[in-house]
Amino acid sequence: MRFLVDGMLGRLARWLRILGQDVRYDASTRDNELLRIAHEDNMVLLTRDEELYQRAIARKILSALVLGETEEERLAQLATTFGVSLNVNMAETKCPECGSGLQETPKSEVAHEVPKASLKLYDQFWKCTNQNCGKMYWLGSHWNRIRQTLEEAKKRASLEE
Ligand SMILES: [Zn+2]
Repeated sequence: MRFLVDGMLGRLARWLRILGQDVRYDASTRDNELLRIAHEDNMVLLTRDEELYQRAIARKILSALVLGETEEERLAQLATTFGVSLNVNMAETKCPECGSGLQETPKSEVAHEVPKASLKLYDQFWKCTNQNCGKMYWLGSHWNRIRQTLEEAKKRASLEE
């Protein structure tokens, strides 16, 4: 399942990539273009725009009107509607910035790309495989917050089932 995410849901796009989903997101894509891409590339359109959602449904495009105000609510909705896994598997995780794959990279090769403090504290590093992006990732201090959000989303998803 591949997701096409509208301009109002940039944070959700990042979350879905962390969860390993194939996500296309470009804040500047207009509604007509979103509908065309979703149709031609057979993608699931995620939007907060009721009118756009109705247009998608009328064209038989798989779509969800994302209603939640918090990331937890939104993720729970996608878990119950499309079976999106709320567990992070770093082997599947995509770059939150650009959606490309990540490659685990030995510590010895990342010394010049990662802050010294993080090098000292962590042993596993991943690099975005897109040469134009190349962002580095590690399970740093923000990781606890990510896990908390996902745990909360899981609770909500189990209540909605
Ligand atoms: Zn990237």
